Amino acid sequence: MDLLVVGSGLFGLTIAERAADELGLQVTVVESRDHIGGNAWSTVDEDTGIEEHRYGAHIFHTSNDKVWGYVNRFTDFTPYEHRVYARHRGEVFPLPINLGTINQFFRRGMGPDEARRLIAEQAAELAGREPGNLEEKAISLIGRPLYEAFIRGYTAKQWQTDPRDLPAGIITRLPVRFNYDNRYFNDTHQGMPRDGYAAWLQRMADHPRIDIRLGVDFLAPGHELSRDAVVGQVPVVYTGPLDRYFGHRYGTLGWRTLDFERRVLDIDDHQGTSVVNECDEDVPYTRTLEFKHFHPERTHRSGTVVVREFSRFAEAADEPFYPVNAAGDRAVLEQYRQAAADEPRVLFGGRLGTYQYLDMHMAIGSALARFDSTVRPWF
Ligand code: FAD
Ligand code: UDP
Repeated sequence: MDLLVVGSGLFGLTIAERAADELGLQVTVVESRDHIGGNAWSTVDEDTGIEEHRYGAHIFHTSNDKVWGYVNRFTDFTPYEHRVYARHRGEVFPLPINLGTINQFFRRGMGPDEARRLIAEQAAELAGREPGNLEEKAISLIGRPLYEAFIRGYTAKQWQTDPRDLPAGIITRLPVRFNYDNRYFNDTHQGMPRDGYAAWLQRMADHPRIDIRLGVDFLAPGHELSRDAVVGQVPVVYTGPLDRYFGHRYGTLGWRTLDFERRVLDIDDHQGTSVVNECDEDVPYTRTLEFKHFHPERTHRSGTVVVREFSRFAEAADEPFYPVNAAGDRAVLEQYRQAAADEPRVLFGGRLGTYQYLDMHMAIGSALARFDSTVRPWF
């Protein structure tokens, strides 16, 4: 073994594939789950033939041509364009907030300039001040009435943290448009892997110099591939939770987790689209996924798979999905970053290893960059 990769998500698999294929290294990948692929993994429901994303809806999108070229080595993508609808007080609106949403909400028929002027008036309460948190950022972009309808309740359910204590960056993930374009993402490239996420991820892992060991926790002591046995002996790429690597010595970093309520319904179409968000606080779940709509090009058997997502603070035994990144977390994170920099020949990468909300293309882009800047010089 020349290199040990901990975690077989897109960060770990990208590093493993590059190290094995480009540098000719013998790579071992340890994965604590019973499957590869991290949170992008999918399975197929036997009865309906519908592909289900096991850890929440995943749509691939990127404007990074290097990443797009790289992923296309392992899979083709369908031309799927993601669109999300949002329910507020029983009415369904298009997201992200666009001219259609604004006109429907205010019962108006405004053009782009008139709508811009209206939103600017409603954002005036900030008086030109630089927004310092999620609430202020949202009000600066869409004004208070739309913030209260579509953002405040959803964000309260998703984060259970005061929006004034959340970073502004969370909300800038969503575009705001003064036209009728309601594609959820702005990126140059988007789509779904044509024959599924599992096939894509398996092709990345399928290399004669990559040895995958499932069901192995790198941080559980007492086996030949554990941290105590390997660090300092062989270079390591670690993509598990940063605080867990250090035994939580500076405290716990805050994460949100999701509970999924899955149902198979004996009807062909439940909601007519892949994702419907629930923006009101009295609806306990944040959104409903209907997976068959991600693949309109496929023929499915009858029935449909529907999943509701409930968000809550992650406890020790839960899957950490979203870094909360509240003010208290940032101070703790700084200490872990220092400790990580001092570990001998250990690269901390990916969403869990860097405590950053990375989309798939960002995890892959960052792995390609860290492969060149850190892994290659090790050899
Ligand atoms: P992960 O996929 O989390 O992989 C880390 C792996 O490490 C896991 O398999 C874990 O089991 C393993 N591991 C951890 N600790 C240990 C240990 N001690 N020993 C052994 N193995 C260990 N991105 C998009 O681009 N589009 C989307 O639409 C999208 N939707 C998302 C929806 C949800 C609900 C979530 C949670 C994420 C979404 N993402 C989306 C983000 C996407 O999942 C991530 O970008 C991607 O999973 C990051 O890959 P990673 O390798 O960093 O982490
Ligand atoms: N958001 C919201 N209302 C919505 C959709 C999103 O308030 O209907 C906010 C919420 O704070 C969320 C953020 O925008 O965390 C980013 O949305 P995105 O869909 O990118 O979040 P994700 O699906 O990754 O949670």
